[in-house]
Amino acid sequence: MERLKEKIEKEGSVQGSNILKVDNFLNHQVDVNFLNEIGREFARRFQDAGISKILTIEASGIAVAAITAQYFGVPVVFAKKTESKNLDQTVYKSEVFSFTKDKTYTIMVSSKYLDSQDRILIIDDFLANGRAALGLRDIVEQAGADLVGIGIVIEKGFQPGGKILRKAGIRVESLAIVKTMAEGRIIFEE
Ligand code: 5GP
Repeated sequence: MERLKEKIEKEGSVQGSNILKVDNFLNHQVDVNFLNEIGREFARRFQDAGISKILTIEASGIAVAAITAQYFGVPVVFAKKTESKNLDQTVYKSEVFSFTKDKTYTIMVSSKYLDSQDRILIIDDFLANGRAALGLRDIVEQAGADLVGIGIVIEKGFQPGGKILRKAGIRVESLAIVKTMAEGRIIFEE
C-alpha cells in the first residue's frame, strides 16, 4: 500500500536497531481518516473470506481492528492482557512474549465471544517475531474456530514472524513490509 509506505517514511522514526515508531498516526495519536484507508484495503483483500469476527490484542490493535470491522459488518473481539475481576470465569488463554517490553504476558478471551462456528480474521498493527499472532491463533484453535488469515499493517520482514506464520500455512496480508531499517533508513520490500 503506497500511501502507507509514504506515511511511514514521512512520519515514522527508527528506535535502536529494530523498533519502528509510528505514534503520529497508529500507536498513540490515531489518524482516523488514514485508518479508514487501511480498513478498506483489508476489506478488499479479505472480502471473499466469509469472516464472522475480527480478533486483535489490546491496546494498539483495537483502533485498526475496529475501523476494519466496519467494512465487514462484524464484531471485534480483543484479547485482554490483564486479569480483572470483571472478566468472565471461562476464558481461553495463551502466553505471549513481547520483545518490545521484554516480558511474557497472558492473553485472555472470554469463551462467550468465540466459538466453533466463527471464521476469524486476526488484525494487528505490527508483525515482528510473530508471538502475538501465534498466541491469538492458539486462542482461535482453543475455540475450535477457523483462522481465515492475518492482516498486518506493518510487517518487519527482517524479523522472523512472517516466515513462521506463512510456513505454518497461514494467509498473512501485510500492507507494508519493511526490508531493513539500518542506520535509520527505512527500505520496503516491493
Ligand atoms: P511480535 O509478537 O510479532 O514479536 O510483535 C508484535 C507486537 O509487538 C505488536 O502487537 C506490536 O504492538 C509490537 N511491536 C513489535 N514491533 C514493533 C515496532 O517496531 N513498533 C511498534 N510500535 N510496535 C511493535
